[in-house]
Amino acid sequence: MINYFMDTYQRLPVTFTKGEGSWLFDTNGKKYLDFGSGIAVNLLGHNYPPLVNAVSEQAKKFFHVCNYYQSDTSLSFAQKLAQICKMKNVFFANSGAEANEGAVKIARKYSLLKYGTGRHTIVTLKGSFHGRTITTLSATGQEKFHKDFGPFTDGFLHIPCGDIDTLEKTLDEKKVCALLIEAIQGESGIVPQNEKFMAEASRLCKQRDILMIFDEIQCGLGRTGSFLAYEQYKDEDGNPIKADIITLAKGLAAGIPCGAVLAGEKTSDVFVTGDHGSTFGGNPIAAAAALVMLDTVNNPKLLEENVRKGNLLMNAIKTFPKVKETRGRGLMIGFDIEGNSREVLEKSLLNDSHGLLLLSSGPNTIRLLPPYTITDSEIEQGLAILKLTL
Ligand SMILES: *Cc1c(COP(=O)(O)O)cnc(C)c1O
Repeated sequence: MINYFMDTYQRLPVTFTKGEGSWLFDTNGKKYLDFGSGIAVNLLGHNYPPLVNAVSEQAKKFFHVCNYYQSDTSLSFAQKLAQICKMKNVFFANSGAEANEGAVKIARKYSLLKYGTGRHTIVTLKGSFHGRTITTLSATGQEKFHKDFGPFTDGFLHIPCGDIDTLEKTLDEKKVCALLIEAIQGESGIVPQNEKFMAEASRLCKQRDILMIFDEIQCGLGRTGSFLAYEQYKDEDGNPIKADIITLAKGLAAGIPCGAVLAGEKTSDVFVTGDHGSTFGGNPIAAAAALVMLDTVNNPKLLEENVRKGNLLMNAIKTFPKVKETRGRGLMIGFDIEGNSREVLEKSLLNDSHGLLLLSSGPNTIRLLPPYTITDSEIEQGLAILKLTL
């Protein structure tokens, strides 16, 4: 068969035709349990009735009005999201990379207005992932992505996670405008930041007027037990760390493309007319879906449940053969294995009767990002397949 896709993904040999809750069905009618949520996108599983209704109702009204106007749905979405994230305002994009591009622009302009030129550097962490555009690749602190596509955007420095000395030296207030962090790194295998490092980062940034940007694209939206993952970190006085900019995408509209940059007190006035734009950003269909996601996920009971279910998974995985280290919080779990993660992915997929969908992070690490709607019995079924495969 001719392959009409460009060969950018090492696609697994399965073609899906429909989904229901935590399950997907392929062209042969075989069932697969979804422990990946399409990379943290389908937070509410597949075919979730309130989501389907909201999208269908919006589709009957209109799909799109351009950003020269506003729609009632997008307006509610902006208001609700800003309030839940405790930020002042929002710019909507369509993806994580675009959200981070917006954050970079805001950070640089903030510094330019206040301090003039030369203070445009953005510090990010090794192992981070911030997107695939030329600028967000520059931000991404992983060598393997930095080849073939240069020249890259200037003005990014990558420092090791947890290295307070290097942090202190690199956050030069004459050159640096922002520090961009994933509270829990996703793509590189679920790596939570060290608490002391985060407290120190917060202190230094505040002292030097360096903006703290949190990339919550994978770890945010309730997955780890708080609406945003960085909210679980405290500054040196034990107060919650303050974000100046937050980026969101992936599960924001529970399966429909949507990204967002949120600005706090320091940064909410930086963008003015003409500074930035997006044709589809805040699209009403995405907004309708996002409103259902927000209403469902911004709920203490659900957040608690995510932690409880995550512990169920984690405690079982720790006892499995070939499992070395486990990491994560709530329904964001990574573990290193003896052996090849791709092989485990393929074997779990091809498991007799039901398949299991997993994600990998490099050659020896498996990532689990199940939907929040997953039940205890589904967790048991998935664990049984995983154990067998390992
Ligand atoms: C996926 C991801 C991105 C990029 O999002 P896209 O929608 O693929 O552009 C950026 N940051 C983090 C932390 C991500 O997990």
